[in-house]
Amino acid sequence: RVVSAAPASPNEEAIERALRPKLLDEYVGQAKVREQLEIFIGAARKRKEALDHVLLFGPPGLGKTTLSHIIAAELGVNLRQTSGPVLEKPKDLAALLTNLEPNDVLFIDEIHRLSPVVEEILYPALEDYQIDIMIGEGPAARSIKLDLQPFTLVGATTRAGMLTNPLRDRFGIVARLEFYTPEELALIVTRSARLLKVETDDTGGFEIARRSRGTPRIANRLLRRVRDYAEVKGDGRITEEIAHKALAMLDVDPQGFDLMDRKLLEAVIHRFDGGPVGLDNVAASIGEERDTIEDVIEPYLIQQGYLQRTPRGRIATLAAYRHLGVTPPSSRSD
Ligand code: ADP
Repeated sequence: RVVSAAPASPNEEAIERALRPKLLDEYVGQAKVREQLEIFIGAARKRKEALDHVLLFGPPGLGKTTLSHIIAAELGVNLRQTSGPVLEKPKDLAALLTNLEPNDVLFIDEIHRLSPVVEEILYPALEDYQIDIMIGEGPAARSIKLDLQPFTLVGATTRAGMLTNPLRDRFGIVARLEFYTPEELALIVTRSARLLKVETDDTGGFEIARRSRGTPRIANRLLRRVRDYAEVKGDGRITEEIAHKALAMLDVDPQGFDLMDRKLLEAVIHRFDGGPVGLDNVAASIGEERDTIEDVIEPYLIQQGYLQRTPRGRIATLAAYRHLGVTPPSSRSD
């Protein structure tokens, strides 16, 4: 997998951090979410209160972590960061919660993966800034209530539907992040190129933006790969021609689809007659996890109109046939 949407290595993560916008004004796109947050953050600051809890959802690499840092920075408070699978025991979460300073932000990535016992102690924390913790063991064990400082939970998840209802209901602000337009991604590529000191002309930068699956993380990653190509095969400058050649070498096709995208479309078309086919069959056929297909691969194909999700399964659209150069069966006329 050349271009996955998750951070690949510690080194990549360091570069990602360096490229992260720090303030709301530098955060490109997501106009609706930005406008809402600007108002709610402004109001919380004015009242010197904690911001309401925020749930951010959308595919990986669209800027959820970045936004959580920005929220804390704009509020002028500390950010504590953790993730659902890391919080194994109630005491792991209790330790974080009891160390928060007034109005701090606690960011929990992959919040849908919290264990039920941990989630349980989160409810009163969110509602009343209180937690119940168990002291001692066996028959002598008893529960005591601890008061917490007011705080803001920012939760991130790929799909809001994976949260339990009681947890979802406790978020006052729910924001869905959308795929970015090529124009928005071009702004991100230009900014990153400046920070990385790569010379990029407009057409070269736009070509990378256009082929980044609507995802800033992929745009930044492709920019670095194309830069490598430009340094070795050219004079270091990213031109349209260099971008074309580098992206072809990276197996990113003219539509911006990568190997996994094509593999999935090919499987649906060739092995399942275009669908409808169930997710499990697709997963087995291309040797990929169900979750990866649902969280990473499918959303963009659906958004772009190459795949449809129906109650009976996934269906390849005519655009998918056309993209792969396959003649659709004559019975198809969608
Ligand atoms: P997520 O948490 O949704 O997986 P991240 O917040 O880690 O995504 O973003 C991945 C990368 O994309 C980061 O390096 C960040 O700099 C960049 N990025 C994401 N959203 C934006 C944006 N709106 N403007 C500029 N850069 C962005």
